[in-house]
Amino acid sequence: MTEFVFSPPPQASIAVKDNEARFPVRRIFCVGRNYAAHAREMGKDPDREPPFFFTKPADAVVDNGVAVPYPPETGNLHYEIELVVAIGKAGSYIAEDDVYDHIWGATVGIDLTRRDLQTLAKDMGRPWDWGKAFDNSAPTSALVPLADVPSLEKGHIWLAVNGETKQEGDLSDLIWSVKEHVSILSRSMAIAPGDLIMTGTPAGVGPVVAGDVITGGVEGIAEIKTPIV
Ligand code: MN
Repeated sequence: MTEFVFSPPPQASIAVKDNEARFPVRRIFCVGRNYAAHAREMGKDPDREPPFFFTKPADAVVDNGVAVPYPPETGNLHYEIELVVAIGKAGSYIAEDDVYDHIWGATVGIDLTRRDLQTLAKDMGRPWDWGKAFDNSAPTSALVPLADVPSLEKGHIWLAVNGETKQEGDLSDLIWSVKEHVSILSRSMAIAPGDLIMTGTPAGVGPVVAGDVITGGVEGIAEIKTPIV
């Protein structure tokens, strides 16, 4: 057994619906601009760009219902509601038709974004990490096993702030479907059990402040509630 100079950090994990056992998180991949209307609101042409990915640290996950402290160094914290898929089986160069064999389950999550730092990074040609990969930046609801997920290809996705609807879309609006983008991702990196993929957000992103309560969901899969404090 390997000895360490100090105790390793606890394993990051998310809850599993109707199960006391938790899903250990290895990495978090995020798909950029995967709904046409959101690509347009970010000033990009949705038709011409292949999917691209960025990452968050595994320990950025926060359980459903747990409050997130307003993060430092931003004055423009944005919500992005997203379908999250969880990988249960390793693979690389996975064919689209085989992708579901590698998926353990799905849920809903919020890609919290320090939009001002992300915009600065874009303008200066710097990495997105400080805008995307900060502490507590990935609230994620309980995971639903794939057999209990009605569809990854259609279903209403929505987000509200203090009960007022801000984002609405449908999984059928994804520019790159789950089968497509997981296949593409697996050509760049071997995916592994424990990986989460945040699949992109529909239009309507915007700011929250301390005291706001974010709610959201994906029809038939999961809902989430995240207070900002
Ligand atoms: Mn996102």
